[in-house]
Amino acid sequence: MPHRTKRPPGFDASDFDALNFSSAEHRNVVIVGSGPAGLAAALYAARANLEPLVLQGPEPGGQLITTTDVENYPGFPDGVLGPEMMQLFEAQAARFGAVVRYGMVTSVDFSERPFKLIVDEESPLLADAVIVATGASAKYLGLENEKRLLGKGVSACATCDGAFFRDVDIAVVGGGDTAMEEALFLTRFGSHVFVIHRREALRASQIMQDRASANDKITFLWNTEVTDVLGEDQVEALSLLNNETGETSELKVEGFFVAIGHKPNTDVFRGWLEMDDLGYVETWPDSTYTNIPGVFVSGDAQDPVYRQAVTAAGSGCMAAMDAERWLAETAVLEKSTAKAG
Ligand code: NAP
Repeated sequence: MPHRTKRPPGFDASDFDALNFSSAEHRNVVIVGSGPAGLAAALYAARANLEPLVLQGPEPGGQLITTTDVENYPGFPDGVLGPEMMQLFEAQAARFGAVVRYGMVTSVDFSERPFKLIVDEESPLLADAVIVATGASAKYLGLENEKRLLGKGVSACATCDGAFFRDVDIAVVGGGDTAMEEALFLTRFGSHVFVIHRREALRASQIMQDRASANDKITFLWNTEVTDVLGEDQVEALSLLNNETGETSELKVEGFFVAIGHKPNTDVFRGWLEMDDLGYVETWPDSTYTNIPGVFVSGDAQDPVYRQAVTAAGSGCMAAMDAERWLAETAVLEKSTAKAG
């Protein structure tokens, strides 16, 4: 049964018309993204003989590539380095025939099957099913030293890195639910947690504000901006600016957690896939199905809540199983339609 979806308003077909799709590489399953979700999907799809192609974007291995020790992924009692874990994921998927290749999907046409993708603005690719596993990226302040000290005291994930900051002072920047959640979690480890917020009112839900305010180990620094992260090889202090008084100061901390939000990497699918205001792709309940039959989504691209490697891997597995079943059912339907015709 041929599937058709209306092209979104403003869709520019000229890029697609300019490429020769009739001789393009044609895959059963293309997995976009190579973090835990994408590579777990690749493992399951490969073991189902679907010979998946995984496209690695600008952050091969996903957010774990910027993490040092991962201590909360089951099966690694002594912890494992983030980049090493992603190499293991890739090797396991490759063992069953998954092909992993660099390539950024720059445009898609999901109006009919096989789906059309353009990789790196020049290479045409066809797919019977697509698994979106493009993840999300933590937002950072954009300071040079923040980047330099990433993994050396700067982190965007308290669940991942909080336990490295026992009995030291820690700062969290942000005023939303993530910042409150991170700060509360970090009170289990740090001697004190400073929440630095650029305004004097929090954006977080009331319940999270109440919890954070009631915690003796949390101090709020209002109307305050972080202007620099100080330290040679490890974070030692933050430079602060009070944007009301213009006063500058230094705050000695060993951990600096940036909690100013995440951005799902789903822009290329905008207009095609139903998303919330922030860009997280919507799924059918208890599945990885999107609004377009044959396009599935897994991992942080659809998850604003859990955002863990283990939950991403779990949903990657779900996406591969959903894709496998959907492809099998679609093949049966297409065969019977062709017979009847
Ligand atoms: P968010 O609600 O967008 O909050 C981001 C915070 O960071 C805001 O307070 C913002 O300040 C601040 N910020 C943004 N850019 C900044 C910058 N350049 N410098 C300094 N501060 C900056 O993001 P979120 O907290 O990640 O939450 C995202 C969504 O997930 C929300 O809907 C939230 O409710 C949900 N969430 C829910 C839970 C939960 O229910 N347990 C946990 C986490 C997240 P301003 O306030 O001044 O804009």
